[in-house]
Amino acid sequence: MHILSARWVIPVEPAGVVLEHHAVVIDGTRIAAILPDAVARTQYPGAEVTSLPNHVLIPGLINLHTHAAMTLLRGLADDQPLMTWLEKHIWPVEAKHLSEAYVFAGTQLACAEMLRSGTTCFADMYFYQEEVARAAREAGMRAMVGGAVMEFPTPYAADADAYIARGLASREQFIGDGKVRLMLPPHAPYTVSDRTFEKLVTIATEMDDLILMCHIHETAGEPTDSERQYGVRAIERLERLGVLGPNLIAVHCVHMTPQEIELFAERGVHVAHCPTSNLKLASGIAPIKAMLEAGVNVGIGTDGCASNNRLDMFAETRLATLLQKGVSGDAAAVPALQALEMATLNAAKALQWDADIGSLKPRKAADVVAVDLGVLETLPVYDAASHLWHAAGRENVSHVWVDGELLLDDHRLTRTDIDALRARTATWGERFRVH
Ligand SMILES: [Zn+2]
Repeated sequence: MHILSARWVIPVEPAGVVLEHHAVVIDGTRIAAILPDAVARTQYPGAEVTSLPNHVLIPGLINLHTHAAMTLLRGLADDQPLMTWLEKHIWPVEAKHLSEAYVFAGTQLACAEMLRSGTTCFADMYFYQEEVARAAREAGMRAMVGGAVMEFPTPYAADADAYIARGLASREQFIGDGKVRLMLPPHAPYTVSDRTFEKLVTIATEMDDLILMCHIHETAGEPTDSERQYGVRAIERLERLGVLGPNLIAVHCVHMTPQEIELFAERGVHVAHCPTSNLKLASGIAPIKAMLEAGVNVGIGTDGCASNNRLDMFAETRLATLLQKGVSGDAAAVPALQALEMATLNAAKALQWDADIGSLKPRKAADVVAVDLGVLETLPVYDAASHLWHAAGRENVSHVWVDGELLLDDHRLTRTDIDALRARTATWGERFRVH
């Protein structure tokens, strides 16, 4: 037994609760109880105790959309709109350098960055998902991984059927893995044909509603281009193809009509909101407040490091709440506790993983993050939840546990040799510099 005794605990479930002087009791990989501190110490007299006197405990943050390996492309091409950025910079570099070794090295760097910023689980759409899984397992993190599916060739696959085959080839190795799961992500409506979408829907249905993740309506041009090519906006096209359902995580959704938001709510589609990437590529601001009000489940993602350029869920969630306040003219829009719910439980629901993660609750996995609010920059503390986004940042994350294992111990990664990681990353950086 292990007692994490903290100044505050925000369990997320039940909603709206901030507990003071409470303890999270961990039994092996699971949460056994959440109790007042004194009660926990009496009830479990022999337990190991970690004292966190100035800290708030929250569930591990879940990065609902990223391309982890792209940490190696961090800052490679800034100040470009989406299509120029993709076609002139990112895809050419990937065409030349995409490999298992690159994906593994990039994901290792990403996992270290994410753990240091309180992220315990991430949903990754990239290539060579076995390598993403290997890096996540090595780091001790939880992940849902999937090889992107599109029509055009990369060093990873020649055509859509080959992407799908590669995406499914590793399926066996994920069965029964408590920490790593598989999804099947079509890249976007503009890179995937009707035939491929239909095929993916059939496969997903046959495989117990395997999760599909797709970039949708990211730019203003995307729905109008779709109208020109297919006669309807992309979301209508996906509706006709049977793609919209509770196993779909729609990423971005910046350009949405009220009818499209209603349709998402009706179909149970989940949304991954990536505000930094949307701003940086000048795509716009997603109507998150309207989606939440319509009953759409919205989580938060960083997107890849090439369009962010950080994997920082604290920055991302802060931006998500501030943007919705500013755009709506409603200072009460997306308050702190709701923002935390988006960054944890909502994402867990989207990943169909909420039986195990997303909140601090007995019998759920012990994925716990301690945030130190005792430093000068976060004093005084009137409201620990508000401080998470408006005063603290990823630098305040002091401890991280995944499945009860301490992966960040007083700001120090327990499984990672930082110097070796820095050296390997520098070598990759030199390679990409002369692409
Ligand atoms: Zn993305």
